[in-house]
Amino acid sequence: MADSNNTLLQSINPNKRLIFQPTLPHNFNPNAIGENGESVIVPDKAKAESDKLFKNHGFNQWASDHMSLHRTLPDLRPSLCKSQVFPKDLPQTSVVIVFHNEALSTLLRTVHSVLDRSAPDLIHQIILVDDFSSIKGHDPLKKYIADLKKVILVRNPKREGLIRSRIIGYSRATAPIVTFLDAHCEVTIGWLEPLLDRVHQNRSVVVCPEIDVIDDKTFQYRAGSSGDIRGVFNWDMKFRWRLTPSQEQKRRNNYNVLFARSPTMAGGLFAIDRQYFQEIGLYDSQMDIWGGENLELSFRIWQCGGQLEIMPCSHVGHVFRNVIPYKFPKDAGLTINKNSVRTAEVWMDGYKEFVYQRQPYMRNIHFGNITERLELRKKLQCKSFKWYLDHVFTDVILPNESAIAKGKVRNPESEMCLNTLGRPKHAFLGLSPCAHEGKTMIISLTVLNELAMDEVCFDVSDHQSGGKITLLDCHSMGGNQFWSHKKNGKLQHRDSGLCLDRGTGINPVMQPCKDVPSQIWTFDNYYPNVKPRKLN
Ligand code: UDP
Ligand code: MN
Repeated sequence: MADSNNTLLQSINPNKRLIFQPTLPHNFNPNAIGENGESVIVPDKAKAESDKLFKNHGFNQWASDHMSLHRTLPDLRPSLCKSQVFPKDLPQTSVVIVFHNEALSTLLRTVHSVLDRSAPDLIHQIILVDDFSSIKGHDPLKKYIADLKKVILVRNPKREGLIRSRIIGYSRATAPIVTFLDAHCEVTIGWLEPLLDRVHQNRSVVVCPEIDVIDDKTFQYRAGSSGDIRGVFNWDMKFRWRLTPSQEQKRRNNYNVLFARSPTMAGGLFAIDRQYFQEIGLYDSQMDIWGGENLELSFRIWQCGGQLEIMPCSHVGHVFRNVIPYKFPKDAGLTINKNSVRTAEVWMDGYKEFVYQRQPYMRNIHFGNITERLELRKKLQCKSFKWYLDHVFTDVILPNESAIAKGKVRNPESEMCLNTLGRPKHAFLGLSPCAHEGKTMIISLTVLNELAMDEVCFDVSDHQSGGKITLLDCHSMGGNQFWSHKKNGKLQHRDSGLCLDRGTGINPVMQPCKDVPSQIWTFDNYYPNVKPRKLN
């Protein structure tokens, strides 16, 4: 079908190609579990085994092991993507996948999804880098891929971490474009052409697919977000998603198949011109194991004359896990922070102070020698971090302009104050006498209209909570974390229309708004010069 369409197209315009149309696997069984990206339900008798396997990888390996390695997936692309045509002579790519102690089925499904759903003439090779995995899996893998002509397997003689492992994989790549994927991804129809086409048009553009979610518990394949989002970072040096500002949406004119400029990348999934990657200095090879490298590369791309984009027509799924399942040879926190400090020291100029103010102990981390990276920055004549904030991450929130109001949040009638009580996430907001002291009582009404303590936000979405307020990671996207502080002292939740009420127990509760003293709240400090941000 696709072939005949392509033949037809080429008789009209021999220089064009349509999106590659995959065929169904030869032994396709539509009723097999997980097909069409559907949730896998673990039968009761397998629960114990599945729970055990979950711990090994931070995801439901049982589900992965029981699905087809060629399972089918839904097509989540905007419909305009489907009729796009691309140059016949798109450059080829080498795909690099690094892994440490990955579940074999998940890794192989990543490989097969690439082979099954990419035009064969566009895949030059798939390079697997085994980062010194300790679990037995290398030999079966070696045996399995012996039949897959394009797949190469490399094994590190010692643990390098994902950053140096990607460099090792890259050094084996020979195609003009290198595409990186994590070892627990599944690509969907049409994923590759938009990436290769964009890099082909402009070799200093680094492109990421739209990342869909493969559920860690059920392996369900679904959209990552309903909104138009891009990557940013916060002053904890953490990657975050944020709604695209209206300016950038306007440029794209709601034409949702056009690339979106993104201030940062999530890290694992991107395509880059092979020579350009070398020219801009690959990765900082003194970064260890995991973390920080995505922001470092993002800042470097933008500051040194490139562009980072998300292609809405390219959809790739990734298993997002809540825990890092593998061991770090040294302390995990220290390793990640060291990588972040190297990034801040090389690229962030004076703005690194904001990072140190947030986490003062980062000042004392031995971050090693950065001379080479500073020389690279000079050689490439890279722009300042201020330029990056002014021109790329234009909606950045500087720490000194992050709160409209801050401090203890007091209900004057009862002299009770809100207290997050340092509880784990998903716990409920509590109360304590305002005379008490504690960091967990210092709450901000942020410029994004969140009620937050550090990175934990007051969230009203859970219908099981009996009106209590759940403490969840801030997502910076408004929605169920959007509050307004009224002149009369009420704290009203936008989506539900309800007001925060002291309640009668140990937790404040959401109630219909009424003129009652139990719904009046005051912050210690108000900053009238700080204005709320429009979210988009
Ligand atoms: N990885 C690796 N060596 C390491 C740590 C991670 O090769 O020391 C691999 C890992 O198997 C995965 C990729 O690097 O394929 C990204 O890591 P991970 O998926 O844990 O990061 P996340 O997606 O959770 O940010
Ligand atoms: Mn991953």
